[in-house]
Amino acid sequence: MDAERIERREGDEMIRMTLMDGQVRVMMCETTQMCQRAADIHHATPVCTAAMGRLMTATSMLGVMMKGENESVTVNIKGGGPMGTVVAVANHGDLKVTADDAQVELPLRADGKLDVGGAIGHEGYMTVIKDLGLREPYIGQIELVSGELGIDFANYYTVSEQQPSLVALGVLVSGDVVLKAGGLLIQPLPGCEEGIIDQLELRSPMFADISREMTFAPKEELLEDWFRGMKPEVLERTPLRYHCACSRHRMEKALISLGRSDLQSIIDEDTGAELGCHFCYSYYNFTTQELKELLERASRE
Ligand SMILES: [Zn+2]
Repeated sequence: MDAERIERREGDEMIRMTLMDGQVRVMMCETTQMCQRAADIHHATPVCTAAMGRLMTATSMLGVMMKGENESVTVNIKGGGPMGTVVAVANHGDLKVTADDAQVELPLRADGKLDVGGAIGHEGYMTVIKDLGLREPYIGQIELVSGELGIDFANYYTVSEQQPSLVALGVLVSGDVVLKAGGLLIQPLPGCEEGIIDQLELRSPMFADISREMTFAPKEELLEDWFRGMKPEVLERTPLRYHCACSRHRMEKALISLGRSDLQSIIDEDTGAELGCHFCYSYYNFTTQELKELLERASRE
């Protein structure tokens, strides 16, 4: 008898699954539209689209693991490469990304792939900040291994979360079009039989080039193919999207958090203030009069 088929669904989403009656946890996502949105917003070059897309894809996996409604996760990559700092934020299925410089151009690598590791650099750190709505966020930091991000996230899970993991991330770009993007996370849970881990390692070349695989078949078909005979069971499916929740109210709070003296010096210049959001390029303007009112509020709070 055929194994149960996974329902086909279009668009960006995260599929959370188990294999072998819960011995292995799997997450697979498509992030094509989200990566296209990031490329458009940041007018990114192909290598920067790939770098930001891989980071968002990996961050979305951390994002959907968060439980509380207001919990969020931020991943900050400082690798010393020409892109500077690259930051992705996930609020469950809502993702956003920014980079110091998204216009970096680099020659292709010898294997014909975009040089993501070169754009990000590998002399630095990856910092994962989980905001659980408590006073202090959870912060995990790890040295970058390659800047290609797949290996770096696998290393993060293994070292910081003591959870050995296989991570594949891919963003297939042609000019300014994202053809396919997605990711896969495989985590054998404590007590998983050795034979199953061996089986997964044997199969790992099948999903190494995940975005290219996704151009050949729907993600559900790939999952059925990759994990045939391993009792794949879908637990949850979460839609993913690029979404920035910035607002005038949040920008007011940011201005107030500058403190009284900084706010006063902006008021003294009498030119008003324009605040831009690094994630979506929305702009918020404040007149000197509005800044004065904010200063009054800051003084009361
Ligand atoms: Zn924004």
